[in-house]
Amino acid sequence: MEKVFMNEPENELENKQQIECIFCKIISGVIPSPHLASNEYAIAIADIAPVAPTHFLILPRAHEENAVALHRSDSQAMAGIFSLVDSLTSRAGISDYRLIFNTGADAGQSVFHAHLHLIAGRPLSWPPG
Ligand code: AMP
Repeated sequence: MEKVFMNEPENELENKQQIECIFCKIISGVIPSPHLASNEYAIAIADIAPVAPTHFLILPRAHEENAVALHRSDSQAMAGIFSLVDSLTSRAGISDYRLIFNTGADAGQSVFHAHLHLIAGRPLSWPPG
């Protein structure tokens, strides 16, 4: 009995985070966004505010705050994400690109559902800002 009572608030919070998460809404289809590629672990969409001629986002289906949290909860999910990188770049003939997991607000993360940016189509400078 005690265990059930202790777990209830946590489950409610988890559901609330997912209900309010813009990427969960895209994955579930509540917000329409064409799926460019998908597999059992992740989907790929076009970024709404592209920073380069090619700017895809790969969204794991599972709601985790960042890439490491995702890896800890299901290490297969990262393989699923990289499988989509392979399909997208092979299909579009992209050989030069940058992959970015912004992690934490100071690193530029604004949506706290793990996601991988795939950016290409122009020369990319280094170091990043
Ligand atoms: P980050 O700042 O690393 O968290 O990246 C979040 C990215 O999500 C930004 O590049 C946004 O342009 C993008 N984004 C936010 N809302 C949407 C949306 N509805 N559809 C597609 N991309 C989005």
